[in-house]
Amino acid sequence: MSNALFRPEWPIIGHEWAVRHITRSLNAERLRHAYLISGVPRIGKTTFARAFAQAVNCLSDVARPCGLCRACQMTAQGTYADFSLIEAQENALRIEQIRELTRAVALRPVEGRYRVLILRRFHEASPQAMDALLKTLEEPPPHVLLLLTADTTESLLATIKSRCQLLNLRPLPVVTVRDALIDQHKVEPERAALIAQLSSGRMGWALDVLKDDSLLKQRAEWLDLLERALGESRTLRFERARHLSENRAALPTLLALWQSYWRDALLLAHHTAAASITNRDRRHALEQIARSVKAEEIYQTLLAVRRTLRYLQANVNTRLALDALMLELPRLRLLAAP
Ligand SMILES: [Zn+2]
Repeated sequence: MSNALFRPEWPIIGHEWAVRHITRSLNAERLRHAYLISGVPRIGKTTFARAFAQAVNCLSDVARPCGLCRACQMTAQGTYADFSLIEAQENALRIEQIRELTRAVALRPVEGRYRVLILRRFHEASPQAMDALLKTLEEPPPHVLLLLTADTTESLLATIKSRCQLLNLRPLPVVTVRDALIDQHKVEPERAALIAQLSSGRMGWALDVLKDDSLLKQRAEWLDLLERALGESRTLRFERARHLSENRAALPTLLALWQSYWRDALLLAHHTAAASITNRDRRHALEQIARSVKAEEIYQTLLAVRRTLRYLQANVNTRLALDALMLELPRLRLLAAP
């Protein structure tokens, strides 16, 4: 029997239960040949799969994955001979990619214990590609470890799911994301708290924002627009609706943001602690709304935003839907933050 060589200290944040599960299987030498790692986008599925790949081929005699040996480092860089990451191209994992994979798995590993293949975004695989993979899953060569990642498992063939060990990754607690941003990425605490809250527990999303803050800039613009519209005339509000309707693709994200804003206002109107609101950087404006507008009216506004989202999904005329929403926003002039 093994002496617990594999350790649960993986180079990832959170998902401890999944790491413990894999670590136990590795230590008991009961590793499966295929794992299906699912969870919402940017939650850390590929990061998890890569750490898994490091663990199985790590050269340390003490604790795997060590993060330092040739196998760990080259796997992290994507240059290890026994590691491949296969990704859907143009939103589809194609049958040729699976055939290439099938040829690759037939070969013995070059230097590692396993030939590890990550198939990313497997929910976008074509039915033919899934079929082609089935054969490999039915008779997997002993030295192969297949790691499939998928945002959702609904579209996957039942025969694929039944041949994989399922690992459904869940969003991390917001404080876990916040602490990781502060401790490992040196983000200033207030900014870390905001990004963590907005990430809804998706570490990958939080790291995306650190690299490219255009997401946060866009968010600020959309919230500024909403807050200004509250103090504006009908004519100006319709002008804004016209302008917004020109960018239809952005509207689901914008409306989801506005929905979270009115949810925050409603929480404050019901005297919920300000620490639990999502848009914490807008606390000053939200508190004014909670003080000046009746809770019932805030609730109606929240419903109006939700309704608009549904209308857009149902292909209702965008301009009309936004005009109607603009009319339902309460009227008040917000004072600038002190
Ligand atoms: Zn190592």
